[in-house]
Amino acid sequence: MNQESIPTLMDFAAKSLLSNEPIAIQSLEVLPKHLYIPLFKSAFLGRHKKVLNAMVRVWPFYCLHIGTLIVQEPPYEILEAIVDGLQFLPVQNTSSGGPKLRILDLRQSQNYEITCYYRFQQKLCSHSCVNSQNSILKVEEVQHRCIFNERVTSESASSWKPIELLVNLSFNSSWRTKRFLLFIKRKIEQSFGSLHLCCRYLQINHISVHNSSVQILDPACVDRLELNWVHLRKVITLFPQFIRLNSLTLFNIPFQSCNGSNFETFLTWLGKLDMLQELSFSFFCLTNQLQKVLRVLQHLVHLNSLRFLFCELSHRDLTVLSQNDHVTHLKRLDLSNNLHWSDYDPFKGLLERVSGTLQHLEINNCKITDSELSAILPVLSHCSHLRVLSLAYNYLSMTALVNLLQSLTALSNLRRVVYPVPLHCYELGRFGGQLDLNKLAEAKAHLNLVLQMAQRNDIYWTIL
Ligand SMILES: [Zn+2]
Ligand SMILES: [Zn+2]
Repeated sequence: MNQESIPTLMDFAAKSLLSNEPIAIQSLEVLPKHLYIPLFKSAFLGRHKKVLNAMVRVWPFYCLHIGTLIVQEPPYEILEAIVDGLQFLPVQNTSSGGPKLRILDLRQSQNYEITCYYRFQQKLCSHSCVNSQNSILKVEEVQHRCIFNERVTSESASSWKPIELLVNLSFNSSWRTKRFLLFIKRKIEQSFGSLHLCCRYLQINHISVHNSSVQILDPACVDRLELNWVHLRKVITLFPQFIRLNSLTLFNIPFQSCNGSNFETFLTWLGKLDMLQELSFSFFCLTNQLQKVLRVLQHLVHLNSLRFLFCELSHRDLTVLSQNDHVTHLKRLDLSNNLHWSDYDPFKGLLERVSGTLQHLEINNCKITDSELSAILPVLSHCSHLRVLSLAYNYLSMTALVNLLQSLTALSNLRRVVYPVPLHCYELGRFGGQLDLNKLAEAKAHLNLVLQMAQRNDIYWTIL
């Protein structure tokens, strides 16, 4: 048991108080400010919805972050109880006393404390929105300008205290998710325009996405978008305003052709994502069309991660990629599950061009054989920034793997390698046959010995 998981006296006191919810709620009136945090944590972990709701109503700090608290299943009931505690009040009613909470953050993260109060000791939160016109920052700016100009605030700006609700959203076809979205929508309507829904990470699963769900979002806030099974036609009609993305993942996107107008419109949108750092395509057939994609990507100067999984990239695509000027900035490259390359010369050229920046390389299931690996190994061993290498499900012998490990141990930044089962461990020595577990255990032991001899215990090597 680590130090953090040992219950403190405060935890016992909070638990005891929560055993009688009405008394716990009553005691909030006299509860010292610093005791709100342990009580909130205990109420959250014990799913005391009424107490959580009451605590949000009188929360004595500017912000409240769920942060490291684990939302137990079912998650929505507890989140709704918390959101329901938000108080919307006119500006003139909140000059003294009253609810202090202005930023409610339902995102889970290891890096957030429950409140920023103890870091800043004032009305500040390091997670407040800076992009939306409805953010606290922008709304208060307008409100202050109006007061300064002695205009009637209600005519020129909202006269309600702005509040932000930070939440990661996942749209899917489950009725409970839909009910949660409806609840949020209703809460926004009840807020007289003072509640800003700030969604920075949006995930949409399947075609069930509909316009009204997307319309409750401010595109200026979303910086990470993941689309799964959303038709390209929908993508280009629902998301043209989402241009502040740092990360875009497209998974299983059905579309008719790379020569149609939908694809052209999609590329136009892609070219506008000036802030994009990570782009991932999966199950997105781009055979002989990568050039079109790369043409728009060359303007995206922040792009440093490219993933093309199951994209059926051809030898021609690989050649085009290896000759593209932009690749020299890449830190992450994933070309897994592309099986149609007739030779690895273009890939070798590509590696040479990214060797100065590449930190993460995945080439799983690409039919790489011993001779191909030996051709790329000299270049690979010059990727001095490489931290992660994954080449699982390729067709390599034990000799090739030993060579690989011996070459890579010189890379001082390397921390993780995922390598394939050596061919001799399969029945008849052919990839995909029945595994001989004894041979596999021997192979692992031998490879571990190679690593120990190279004194690289700081690298996590794993077989897949
Ligand atoms: Zn904060
Ligand atoms: Zn926002």
